Amino acid sequence: MSLDLSDGRVLHMASTPQEPSGAARITLLEEIPRRVFDSCPICGDPATDEEHVPPAAMGGGKMTLTCAGCNHRLGSHVEADLIDWYDNHITLPRFTAPDVQGARRTARIPLKWTPEGEFVLLLSGSIDPAIDEMLQGGEITLAGLLPDENRCRLALLKHAYLAACLRAGAPAGADGDLVRHDLIAARDATGRSEVPYSPLAMGLTVIRHVGATPLASAPLVRAVVHLSEEPIEGVLLVGRIFVSWSSTFNPGHRPDQDRHLQVSLQVGEPISGTVQSVDP
Ligand SMILES: [Zn+2]
Repeated sequence: MSLDLSDGRVLHMASTPQEPSGAARITLLEEIPRRVFDSCPICGDPATDEEHVPPAAMGGGKMTLTCAGCNHRLGSHVEADLIDWYDNHITLPRFTAPDVQGARRTARIPLKWTPEGEFVLLLSGSIDPAIDEMLQGGEITLAGLLPDENRCRLALLKHAYLAACLRAGAPAGADGDLVRHDLIAARDATGRSEVPYSPLAMGLTVIRHVGATPLASAPLVRAVVHLSEEPIEGVLLVGRIFVSWSSTFNPGHRPDQDRHLQVSLQVGEPISGTVQSVDP
């Protein structure tokens, strides 16, 4: 993303993924087309609702039908974390400053850095005037939440599983049952915070492509990744996120993930600008 600043400078910024980075070789095999089943591929109830695979917010298309519960309830339990992770956003940001009483909230905030590694605080929409006051004070604390890894992985499991169903039908047998069990448990949780831990989802191989252009334009492409000797088969979502169709099951990884983020920011002089370009 680039901004034209009012003093004539151009501010470039990018999202830096927090995951360890490295190179993986990927072979794209074939586009996976839309396919509709009579019953929900996840739970077997009548398939009634258009399902975006992956979620529309990531650029997914209407690829199949699922039941209302697996579509909306499962989606609302796990997909917000996937989208925040995909977009590199902080959830529920909260600002405090020494000279202003109380905390103020804003909509979610993108994590963006300049090439020199300086954090760029990008606020959009209507902003509480108290936040302006805080920023003028020169010192501000930003707190918020990072995406929940287990829920993010469960959302990836849902969409990788649906992609596998579109290609070859809902898998019968024990392997398919394990996936369906964890997805239905996430759907039927009493709330987002009650979604059970899934060693199956945590054991998926997930690789993110951070280049300027996606590797494919189709939302779903069957692909093979070569990380070690054994090639790993799976699906490439929107040309950017590879998710394996196998899991190493990761019961030992149960994260004591600290999702809380808190940083103190020294704020410079405010400057206005207009958006020049936005990466796809
Ligand atoms: Zn269902």
